[in-house]
Amino acid sequence: MKEESLKPETLLGHYAEARAAYHGAVVPPIFQNSLFTFESWEAIDRAFGHRRDHFIYTRVGNPTVEMVEKKLARLAGAEKGLLFASGMSAISAALLHYLRPGDHVITLKNIYGPANNLIAVYLKEKMNISSTFIDGSDVAAFEAAITPQTRLIYLESPTSATFRLQDIAGVCALARKRRLKTIIDNTWATPLFQKPLTLGVDLEVHSCSKYLGGHSDLVSGLILGAAEDLDAIATGERELLGGVMAPFEAWLILRSLRTLPMRMERHQHNALKVAAFLESDPRVRRVDYPGLPSDPGHQLALKQMSGFSGLMAFEPGLEDLKQIRTFFNSLEVFQIGVSWGGHESLIYAPVISYLKELSPERFRAMGISPARMRISVGLENADDLIADLDRALTLAER
Ligand SMILES: *Cc1c(COP(=O)(O)O)cnc(C)c1O
Repeated sequence: MKEESLKPETLLGHYAEARAAYHGAVVPPIFQNSLFTFESWEAIDRAFGHRRDHFIYTRVGNPTVEMVEKKLARLAGAEKGLLFASGMSAISAALLHYLRPGDHVITLKNIYGPANNLIAVYLKEKMNISSTFIDGSDVAAFEAAITPQTRLIYLESPTSATFRLQDIAGVCALARKRRLKTIIDNTWATPLFQKPLTLGVDLEVHSCSKYLGGHSDLVSGLILGAAEDLDAIATGERELLGGVMAPFEAWLILRSLRTLPMRMERHQHNALKVAAFLESDPRVRRVDYPGLPSDPGHQLALKQMSGFSGLMAFEPGLEDLKQIRTFFNSLEVFQIGVSWGGHESLIYAPVISYLKELSPERFRAMGISPARMRISVGLENADDLIADLDRALTLAER
């Protein structure tokens, strides 16, 4: 089999699976072991001399984990991939790989909340790393934010809270010219619908807890990039900070990847239908979804992405918190919960967490509507999802 030219569906089913070595088992076994044993002093001595080519201890490397890393790297067009215990573990490792005390980071106001806290608070307090948070819709604004201390630009396109895009190739060209490193959180689009490494990004990070896992049964993270960077991260941040992927979780991802292209096709199909329904319904004031031709990011999306996933936000035209709650509580197919990217459709109202942290006055001053709803469109039938939203909108307006 010429594995190099395989299309995603075939690649994810077959690539990197040495079936002959596992008695022909169609599903590879889980190497559920912490250590690997050796025949002799000479053998373990040799393994320590060539650590990349031998398995010694699962924090350093494990065959089940490595098989999934190879598949994901191949899918993304990366030289190498490394799995982590969570998306945040991958994000923190990628940041620590590039950053030194005193450095400056440019990123977006609306990046994933914990990544925002990591950069703005944790890295500031522990390593004196400063940061500038910008809107990100304009390459010139990145250039204007560069200082002599700037080392890194951290992107998330589309952002998973506001669904805004950055011009990835444009920002990367600027970064190259000014000798800055770039990292992108590519969780929303998945390596299937967006290939940031081919647009010039240095490191691509993912939360595999979303579509790559896809069944809401695991938490995991991933870094993709050049072998030189990833070898340094493997022996540095991953081996020493120790946020490694467990073999069982890696095996679950292996299972999930076999259906990733079909699942993403269906998420896209359903999300486009749901977004079109919401946009056309007079009871809905606003829809944020780059898959809609009316979305401000749509043209750029067509240029740098090849598909749209299922996470979006919308605002029913409801003012009263009681009505908003009625809408939320009336849904029957959409389940209430955080996270996204699984088979099931989910809804969350960001106002619930904002009101825990901010006074109602400060919340209103931020310009976010309390009616804003975030939905993860799952794999159910799109007509059932639309009927569910339609019913809840009607009940809320009673
Ligand atoms: C969930 C998420 C993360 C963090 O991933 P975990 O696996 O929960 O640590 C990072 N970025 C985005 C965009 C996410 O949605």
